[in-house]
Amino acid sequence: MDAQKLEHFRQLLTEQLRQRTQSARENQSDALEFAANDDGVKDVADQSVKDVSQEIEYRLSERDSQAIADIDQALMRIDEGTYGVCARCGKEIPERRLEAVPTARYDAECQSIVEQNKGEDEHATL
Ligand SMILES: [Zn+2]
Repeated sequence: MDAQKLEHFRQLLTEQLRQRTQSARENQSDALEFAANDDGVKDVADQSVKDVSQEIEYRLSERDSQAIADIDQALMRIDEGTYGVCARCGKEIPERRLEAVPTARYDAECQSIVEQNKGEDEHATL
């Protein structure tokens, strides 16, 4: 991949990272606001509502942090010069796919193999 294209994907990823970081912050403050309002109600149901809001916050931040980690890793691969190369078979990932999924680590073929084998792989590492 030439430097100009790498720069294009770097910008795409940086923009995604910015949006993700922003949405993570918004989700967090929404959840905090919800929890704060919650404190005014001294009710038996209070605790369970608080648990639910904490659960929602946890799930959102987990999803966001996973996405942020994926983007971070893709940016690292740009720096290392391995961006756009399938981590499984070593072939170049089609640019069309990278445009759709800039964080893609595999080409479409390997992605489906990796997803199919996910359970087995996790088992094998134990
Ligand atoms: Zn591959």
